[in-house]
Amino acid sequence: EAKAHGRGQVRSYDRAMHQAAEERRSLELDLRQALDRGELWLAFQPIVDAHDEHLTGFEALLRWTHPQRGNIPPGVFVPLAEETGLIDRIGQWVLHEACVTAAGWATPLTLSVNLSPRQFDNPQLPTIVRNALDVSGLTPSRLELEVTEGLFLADRAPTLAMLAELQALGVGFALDDFGTGYSSLGYLQTLAFNRIKIDRSFVAGCAHDRGESVAIVQAIVALANRLGMDTTAEGTETRDEYEAMRALGCGHMQGYLFGRPMSATDAAALAGGTLPLSRSRPAWAALPP
Ligand code: C2E
Ligand code: MG
Ligand code: MG
Ligand code: MG
Repeated sequence: EAKAHGRGQVRSYDRAMHQAAEERRSLELDLRQALDRGELWLAFQPIVDAHDEHLTGFEALLRWTHPQRGNIPPGVFVPLAEETGLIDRIGQWVLHEACVTAAGWATPLTLSVNLSPRQFDNPQLPTIVRNALDVSGLTPSRLELEVTEGLFLADRAPTLAMLAELQALGVGFALDDFGTGYSSLGYLQTLAFNRIKIDRSFVAGCAHDRGESVAIVQAIVALANRLGMDTTAEGTETRDEYEAMRALGCGHMQGYLFGRPMSATDAAALAGGTLPLSRSRPAWAALPP
């Protein structure tokens, strides 16, 4: 009985696999054209100073509004863009679009832009960043590039050389999703990061008084301070989380408590002081689950 049953399951499993592959293929074809069709856009999420909650900058977050399927989360299409190599062209567009947007803000706030490890496969990356700065007129020190520990999994000389070249442009670096990767800490010596972004998993843990999370965040903040780096708590959703992270010495906060990712129009109004944080409207994929 188990056998007959098993064979049927295999067949439906095959069908499901086939369907998933087809689905992926069609999404990939659509993603290839998304940029030219104007379906990609950027949302901007506020980052505030932990001490007085004043706005210090925004992180640019990529969005895709598919004409039939609607909004597709970056957790779905960014990996697809990475696997297909499309991230190179899309990432270049993100840099230009984000820099031009930030250059238009009435106050010189910082702009954080995510870089995929795959973008470092292109030796032109430093030139691409320099062009984005030149074309937009954005002061290099206002741009902070976010990379993850994944970039350092394979220690490749060209990547390190590119990081040094980028740093020489005067841009800053943040280590994103810190604590979730599997790499060693040795790479912290290879680049003077300006900031460590503490992953949301630890932020939530600290507020719920989990001793392990508190110990880990204490260690991260101490490490950052010793190395002359600032820290940002990612995904701060509640007052309790904010208070806990501030007590642990975290310098900056980012999360739904302070502002959800929003349109470029709202971000500009916020930067110009014509819109209070409390009245900003969230862009999609930032609503409660
Ligand atoms: P990330 O760089 O760690 O970005 C932070 C993510 O946390 C964003 O998800 C943001 O919307 C979400 N978030 C912010 N505050 C809160 C909060 O209070 N609670 C919770 N639960 N989540 C919060 P999003 O926009 O879905 O982006 C997911 C990931 O996609 C990003 O994680 C980043 O790794 C990637 N990504 C987004 N834009 C780009 C891009 O332009 N280029 C590249 N290479 N990757 C990008
Ligand atoms: Mg990020
Ligand atoms: Mg992050
Ligand atoms: Mg994260």
